[in-house]
Amino acid sequence: MKPVIDVHSHIFNAKDIPLKGYLLSRKAKEGLEKILGRVLIPWVAKCIRRKLEPKKNKMFLGGILCRLPLQLVYKLLGKQYRHWVTTMMKEVDDITAEMIKTYENDEIDLYIPLMIDYEYWFKTSSDNPMKEQIDYIADKIIIPYGGKIHPFVPFDPTRELAFRKGLEDPQGKQELYGSLNLVKDAIENRGFIGVKLYNSMGYKPFNNETVEKKRKKIAHHKKKYVFKGIEYDDVLSELYDYCIEKNVPITAHCVMDGIESYNKASWDFGRAKFWRDVLSQKQFEKLHLNLAHFGWSKKQGYYGKKSWVREICEMLQEFEHLYTDVSHHRVMTKKYHNRFQSDYIDICRDYPVIKKKLLFGIDWHVIKREKNFKNFKTEYVKMLQQNNLFNDDEIIDFLGGNALRFLGLLPGDQNYNRLKRFYQNNKIQPPQWLSKNIG
Ligand SMILES: [Zn+2]
Repeated sequence: MKPVIDVHSHIFNAKDIPLKGYLLSRKAKEGLEKILGRVLIPWVAKCIRRKLEPKKNKMFLGGILCRLPLQLVYKLLGKQYRHWVTTMMKEVDDITAEMIKTYENDEIDLYIPLMIDYEYWFKTSSDNPMKEQIDYIADKIIIPYGGKIHPFVPFDPTRELAFRKGLEDPQGKQELYGSLNLVKDAIENRGFIGVKLYNSMGYKPFNNETVEKKRKKIAHHKKKYVFKGIEYDDVLSELYDYCIEKNVPITAHCVMDGIESYNKASWDFGRAKFWRDVLSQKQFEKLHLNLAHFGWSKKQGYYGKKSWVREICEMLQEFEHLYTDVSHHRVMTKKYHNRFQSDYIDICRDYPVIKKKLLFGIDWHVIKREKNFKNFKTEYVKMLQQNNLFNDDEIIDFLGGNALRFLGLLPGDQNYNRLKRFYQNNKIQPPQWLSKNIG
């Protein structure tokens, strides 16, 4: 028996991210959101956040100033958007409980929420400092859930460089911790099992001297956080060295139309093929990497001329420790379901290695914006089973077997040993899935 592992979810709330920047960055790509313009979105962002400060803002949220704009947004963007906003307004422990409840019939043994660190990239900064977010998740989520939830901690090279140079963070406070220190503590002592990177914010995996000018399109990086490309490469290399030494997996956001610091920034910083510059170096060949979302966009799929999917398939063949997750693929919608299926028929023919590299991940709660988000697992498995594309064993690998290798959770692996120690130190009964993965 092998466990079922969701390698890609989120449990952040509206106060953990620079919400205004986040919502505005999505604006350009989603037709109706565009119409809402620059006035309504910032206001709505405020309203969403105020819900998390009820004492301060009873009048504000309950009042017409928020009720009407929110109703307008829901009307324009539909009930799915409303569902997602409602979740973002909750506390993180309630968001986590909602996730577990939503997928209770899917028998998921282990959830891996990916924390994100956008603070240095958007004009609006986050309210909850990163160190506090990590502490909260370590104490209120990881320990109480006793082995069902082990998140990835974020690494941000700009935060790290600001720390090393003694600069203030975007909120004007001294950067006290540094990203790499936070990562090391989270991995070694607090039950986190990997690192999340977000290249489409504004840094390439390597060779950052080629994008120094582009980074200056980002407001914070015009004056305050002007660092050289080589400095980015240096701190990223330190992270990769650490991850290899401790066998810590990395998940990098990798899709051409997600959150980005400016329109199309993903193309400047986050393309799948940029990771070749890292993985093809001897020093980094043992890095365990997951390119999230399989680089899949609605329009391009496997065949589009500019498709990243094909690039990733090529790389999966070449690099032993490279994986890709299927999070947020719109298989629940019939018209996309069929398209996915025909693309997978071709991928399995051209790149059979995919069956050992594909990772299951839903992208909850961001996927709440799609219809039928609850059926993600059922629909994905159904799609891969049709035409005998994946047999039973291959489905088991997709749902968790491949993830065990990516995560370094097989007996004797470093993450496996770290978790065993973590359970012992915190008097947690080791979860069943840990012993499931032996046979
Ligand atoms: Zn995601």
